[in-house]
Parts: sequence; C-alpha cells; structure tokens
Amino acid sequence: MKLHEYQAKSLLRDFGIPVPEGKTADTPEEAESIAKEIGCPVMIKAQVLVGGRGKAGGVKMAADPKEAEARARAILGMTIKGIVVQRVLVARAVDIASEYYVSLTVDRASKAVQCITSASGGMEIEEIAVKEPHKIIRFALDPEMGLVRGQHFDSLAHAFGAPGVSEQAWRIVEAMYRLFKEKDCSLVEINPCALTPAGTLVAADAKVIFDDNALYRHPELESLRSPEEYGDDEMDAKASGLSYVGLDGTIGCIVNGAGLSMATMDLIKYFGGSPANFLDVGGSSNPEKVLNALRIISKNPRVTAILINIFGGITRCDDIARGILMAREKITIPVPLTIRLIGTNEKEGRQLLEAAGIDAFTDLTEAVKAVVGRTPDQGRAPKGGKAPQGKARA
Ligand code: GDP
Ligand code: MN
Repeated sequence: MKLHEYQAKSLLRDFGIPVPEGKTADTPEEAESIAKEIGCPVMIKAQVLVGGRGKAGGVKMAADPKEAEARARAILGMTIKGIVVQRVLVARAVDIASEYYVSLTVDRASKAVQCITSASGGMEIEEIAVKEPHKIIRFALDPEMGLVRGQHFDSLAHAFGAPGVSEQAWRIVEAMYRLFKEKDCSLVEINPCALTPAGTLVAADAKVIFDDNALYRHPELESLRSPEEYGDDEMDAKASGLSYVGLDGTIGCIVNGAGLSMATMDLIKYFGGSPANFLDVGGSSNPEKVLNALRIISKNPRVTAILINIFGGITRCDDIARGILMAREKITIPVPLTIRLIGTNEKEGRQLLEAAGIDAFTDLTEAVKAVVGRTPDQGRAPKGGKAPQGKARA
C-alpha cells in the first residue's frame, strides 16, 4: 500500500524527521490561502501515487499566493502517467544547496533491510544507477542488530560528507528505520533529502510503501489507503479471494499457483504476447473462484484472449471444468478461451469440457503458442516460428 507524499511526510514528522510545513488543497483558491498562511515561496506539488512528478511538470515553485493559485490551477486536472491530479500539496519551499538520496528497502538477496544512499539526489534512483553508479552506497542491516553506528556511520558519511551533515543523516536514517520496522514497510525513501545553505537536512520529498501482507497488524493505517491505488478489477478480485495484479497486456490469465502464474506470463512474453493480468486462483480452487476470475477478466476491454492454465494437484481439474461451464452459463465471455488442463481428476475435467464441445491442451507451450496466435498484437515468436492457431475452441 502506497502513501501520497503528504501522508508520507506526516508520518516522517511523527518519527522526528524534519519536513517542510505544508497542507493539501483540492482547489486553486485553497492553494492560495494555504500559501498565505504558511508563507512564500511555496512548492505546489501534484499528489499522485507515481514518481517523476517533477519532470512531468507536476512540481512548481510559487513566489507569492497569487502565483500559488495559478500554479495549482495548472497542476490540478493535469494527467501524470495516466493519473489525473485531484489534489496538490502546498509546502514551504526549501532553499536547496544540494540534494541527497536515502532509502530503506528489503533486499531479498541479503534477506535484510538495505539502506541505499547517494550524494546525487533529486533524480530517481534508477537514473542515478545508470548515470552515476559509483555514487550509490548501500549497506544491509542485520535483522538482529539493526543500525549499528560503529558499522554503518562511515558508509553514510561517505555519501553525506561533512560531519555535521552526516550526523543529521544518521538521525534521519535511525528514524526511518524505526518507522520501517514499526509499520512493516517495504520502502521508505527520501529524495531529495535536501541540504539548506544553512546546513540543515530536510525531507523535501518522501515515499512510503507498506507491506500489504503485514497490513492486518496495522488497523491504524487503513485510513491512509487511497482508493485509486487499485483498479476496480483489483478491488473486485480481492473481494473474491483471488490473488490478482492488473497489467497492461491483452492476454487474460487464470492459473493455479503463484509460481506457475509467473512462469505462464514469462512464456506468453517469450512467444511474443503480453499478459493482461496475474491471477492465481489458489490451491483448492472451487468452481466459484473460476467463475469470478472469468467474470473479472471478461470485463477488461483490453483482453482479446484468455488462457486458463491448470496443473492439478490439490486443485482438481473437474472443479475447474465446472467453474468454466458455470461461467459460460452465467456470464458472457467475449473472447476465445484457451485451456491447458493436467493433473488431478484431469480425465473427469476433460469429459465435462468435451461434453460442452470444449477442447483443452495438455502441453503448456502448445497452449501458450495457441493463445498468442489468437491475439491481434502477436509479435515475434522466437525460435518456434509463427505461433500456430490453437485447436481448442470454447
Ligand atoms: P518527484 O519528481 O515526483 O520525485 O518530486 P520531488 O518532490 O522530488 O520534486 C522534484 C524536484 O523538484 C526535486 O528534485 C527538486 O529539485 C525540486 N523541488 C522539490 N521540492 C523543492 C523545494 O522545496 N525547494 C526547491 N528549491 N526545489 C524543490
Ligand atoms: Mn522525489
């Protein structure tokens, strides 16, 4: 779960990190009166859950309240990476002498929280990694020990330089780590961490992401949820107990198991197609789940074909087949279905489908080639040449 900048900054402030004063506005007039109240110059900043707002024109300075109103008028309603700006943060502008980057994330390789920092802040970390990789300093925090001054201070000082500044950076990272652990975050990022000409570090921008799997431990965070973070399809899938992530491709996927879902999407990509979603119907999928999965995917206007890939273990192929038949009765599936069915109760499943005139593949590669062949945007088909038309019709 992602926080807007204004929410992230308020949390940072609670943990003792210096943050410029600010308030949110939904109208240009409100922005003007906030600018009057907190004092100019101010920054007018689009509150959308994506990065790179500055480059997109969603972050502007205003010298006086009238200009704040005009800037807010221009930014409100603007579209940034497909998202319409509905709210701006009006924050006291920080006088910036230099910009640093600092973040905490989970590093899967070292199985620890990792601190990443750099003296070249401002741009996104991916960009720093390309342009100035030598300026990125990272260190892992032992889960038992956490931040250890004797061990980690020098690394921070390497990025932040002067002892006075590094001391402030140390206190900021300590607070970030407390926040990270206490709220089960997957990311706490300050970029830029701005140094003023007077020598003070301030969080000029902040990003916080909570680990969804730990949210049940934090009912107090629920009120921070932004409905726009998830699409209607994702909310619907959540309510139906399906593990689902919307993507921007054209092939709807229904698979049992997260690993097999990933492998299926990889294979679709490999044969030149693009998945419209990740969907794991789960281990012991009942027919109802298959029905819901087909219902949700069928509503996606980008989907031009659907692939159902089932490797039956605990999941029984006949349950899946019943779900498919139930869906065909209850809803309209506007695109062709390609089915791959193998494993527990495969024979029974196939019989049910065949009785309804539906064929199913046993081989995954064949099924994927078939479904990619059915999508209009089929691209390159590496090695295997042109993907053949599938035999399964539903
Ligand atoms: P992002 O582009 O979405 O990461 O938004 P940021 O809040 O990081 O703003 C982008 C850039 O705008 C920063 O890197 C700064 O250069 C500039 N900026 C943001 N806030 C301030 C501020 O308070 N004062 C000044 N002088 N520049 C700012
Ligand atoms: Mn930023």
